[in-house]
Amino acid sequence: MDVGEPVWQDLESPRDLTRDERRLLEQLVGVVGEQVLQRQLDAAVVTARCRCGCSSVRLHSTEAPVAEGQVRQLSGPGRSDHFSVDARSRAPGFPDVHVVLHVVQGRVEELELFAGEGVAVPLADLADPTDVTVA
Ligand SMILES: [Zn+2]
Repeated sequence: MDVGEPVWQDLESPRDLTRDERRLLEQLVGVVGEQVLQRQLDAAVVTARCRCGCSSVRLHSTEAPVAEGQVRQLSGPGRSDHFSVDARSRAPGFPDVHVVLHVVQGRVEELELFAGEGVAVPLADLADPTDVTVA
């Protein structure tokens, strides 16, 4: 398995996004500028967390998916089933945190927060994301 690939552990029951998770996701989704994605985020819950100990979470929303044609436009390689919003952030003691929102089949699927294998990132101290790219 590749380092940094999340291995999901389902939560016993889905939970709401924390305030800090929501703030971060709002910032990423804001860059995409897609209303459908925003509506998904409003209703999104967390269904699983990464087993490795990092702060990545799996998301779920029952709102309508982003249309395939739109996904293809947003996706760098022109895929109709996936695009991602990539960014960099940092927190005290964590100079480089890689933040990725994965959108799969038109729906928010995963928030990846990578600062090293098994490293939990203090979301409350996370700086606003920079170098945001949609591909
Ligand atoms: Zn992990």
